[in-house]
Amino acid sequence: MWALFRQQILARGFPNYYWGVSETTESGQAINLDPWFGHYAERASGLSASEVRALFAVASRPEVVSLAGGMPFVRALPEDLVNGALARVMSEQGPTALQYGSGQGVPVLRQQILEIMALEGISASVDDIVVTTGSQQALDLVTKLFINPGDVVLAEAPSYVGAIGVFRSYQAHIEHVAMDNDGLIPDALRAAILRMAAEGRTIKFLYTIPNFHNPAGVTLSAERRPEILKICQDAGILVLEDNPYGLLSFDEDVPPAIRSLDDEGVIYLGSFSKTLAPGFRVGWALAPHAIREKLVLAAESAILCPSSFSQLVISEYLASADWMGQIRSFRDVYRERRDTILSSLAEHLPELSWTVPAGGFYVWVTLPDALDSKAMLPRAVTELVAYTPGTAFYADGGGRQNLRLSFSYPTPENIRIGIRRLATVINGELDLLSTFAGTGSLTASAGEDNVISPPPDMS
Ligand code: PMP
Repeated sequence: MWALFRQQILARGFPNYYWGVSETTESGQAINLDPWFGHYAERASGLSASEVRALFAVASRPEVVSLAGGMPFVRALPEDLVNGALARVMSEQGPTALQYGSGQGVPVLRQQILEIMALEGISASVDDIVVTTGSQQALDLVTKLFINPGDVVLAEAPSYVGAIGVFRSYQAHIEHVAMDNDGLIPDALRAAILRMAAEGRTIKFLYTIPNFHNPAGVTLSAERRPEILKICQDAGILVLEDNPYGLLSFDEDVPPAIRSLDDEGVIYLGSFSKTLAPGFRVGWALAPHAIREKLVLAAESAILCPSSFSQLVISEYLASADWMGQIRSFRDVYRERRDTILSSLAEHLPELSWTVPAGGFYVWVTLPDALDSKAMLPRAVTELVAYTPGTAFYADGGGRQNLRLSFSYPTPENIRIGIRRLATVINGELDLLSTFAGTGSLTASAGEDNVISPPPDMS
């Protein structure tokens, strides 16, 4: 079975069912398999399978070391802590847990969320929190409330693939803003705002992931936070601050949240997916009061209410377990994996460059000029290693020279194996290119000299 799959991948890339719904006839004509094709609303054209989604299907094979999906290592959660909370909820509040609840979320959990956000300098009222089905749903609701087709969302370059998918599904124009190792670049933000004004476009919000960015791994510096906020305030642009990784720092705590500097111009999104477990599907939005009222209405129309069961179990867990101690042990697990991936990259792929995350799940890698991360992926999968190509994180076709490696899920041993396999693929591609360019064989030793330029017809 695997041999057949491998042959298929090498012959024609990933099979069609991983990438879309159309099939190709023998004469090469594309036919659509969906009889309702002509009936969809225009906005449905913004829905497409992300590269990450396609990868989950392939990379979940046990032979493949997946550095692709950003999954938390939930096995590190002591089973008895979660089971205990679960059992107590069912024995003490069973009927409530199994019933519909408030559209805004369980009040006691919202109170606990306030305490969590206080760790990043946020003070707020329980009334301004809306519990959602993961922060993904909060992203969807905010976008639904603010975006008309063609409105602009400013987003970092690169940005979270799931957010790009939501913005596209509401037909937003996504304008990327450059980052460096200190996060979003204020001058690039100013330039993007001017550019959009010159084009007569309406910017609705800036979407930013300030801490341990997905996929870039970088953190917005403390100095830049007020500056970014001021630029947005002056231009009348709302800030959508997405912070699922903030508590997963390896060294020092993150700087105060942007929301801690302004409670009128920022919507803050949080989640229990990375600090506890994504299976509960519980996240939240903290919004200025008027927006919060609309968010609750939008949430009710989408799902009536978030899961009472999940909220009560999380609430019980927070009340009874040493949750901060558990987060500290997650940090230890991820720190070791971060160190392993960085040292493996340095050992096996010294000619590449990458970001050094101070927390979270991701390393963002830049390939030598000639390589294309998307084109290289089928080759990588045949070598039994998966990553996410950089193109998944751009709305404008950028990212071919980048890939995202996630170190949160595989064990250190598997990370080492995965990076060795990746090195085989990358060095093989470089060898191939140098053969075509007539520059002879390349070795993987360190130094700029080993980075070849693409031949003119392949750049
Ligand atoms: N934002 C970012 C930056 C993420 O990485 C993720 C999950 N990968 C989400 C939002 C959504 O997380 P959830 O819905 O599980 O809270």
